[in-house]
Amino acid sequence: KYEDIVSIIEHVVDTQKVNTTVHTFHIQKETDKTIVLGDRDKLAQVFTNLISNAIKYSPDGGNVTVRIYEQNNRLCIDVKDEGLGIPEEALPNIFTKFYRVDNSDRRRIGGTGLGLAIVKEIVKAHEGEVSVTSELKKGSTFTVSLPLVALAPGEEDERDNDDKQAHAHVIIVE
Ligand code: ATP
Ligand code: MG
Repeated sequence: KYEDIVSIIEHVVDTQKVNTTVHTFHIQKETDKTIVLGDRDKLAQVFTNLISNAIKYSPDGGNVTVRIYEQNNRLCIDVKDEGLGIPEEALPNIFTKFYRVDNSDRRRIGGTGLGLAIVKEIVKAHEGEVSVTSELKKGSTFTVSLPLVALAPGEEDERDNDDKQAHAHVIIVE
């Protein structure tokens, strides 16, 4: 189905922000083309996992910024925190099931190591990509990119669902 990524992210942020008093949340929308083709619940799971990590791994708080922009004809979403950061040698492993960074800073932070593996799987199923940049003690930025659909919010409701599915392939911007 056609989904507005902004509405999904706003909902996830509203749900996640009740879990913290020390973080400030920002949504920076830099494009009007924010429609993607996908599963709303699964896309919400992606941003729930990324934003809950952003909160969990920045125990002293700070800004959690979600930036939504267009790049190379794709819709990109950055989830940025000002937290612990990730050691460079761990970066290639963090999307692997059950992998967790183990150092004294985060010894008390619990988890199973599944969140990012699920993110990677869902993003892949949407023909997207996920990447990360991070600096220890400064923070991390996770970037999700998804194929863009050439519709603005609101336009997606003009046709019935069968018609949308039938013509989905011609609407995707190459
Ligand atoms: P789960 O998400 O299953 O509860 P988890 O958070 O440990 O457990 P992932 O979300 O897959 O698992 O993250 C894997 C590891 O990557 C984490 O253990 C953590 O060390 C590191 N990590 C993930 N996100 C961040 C972040 N925003 N800042 C710093 N480290 C992170
Ligand atoms: Mg996690």
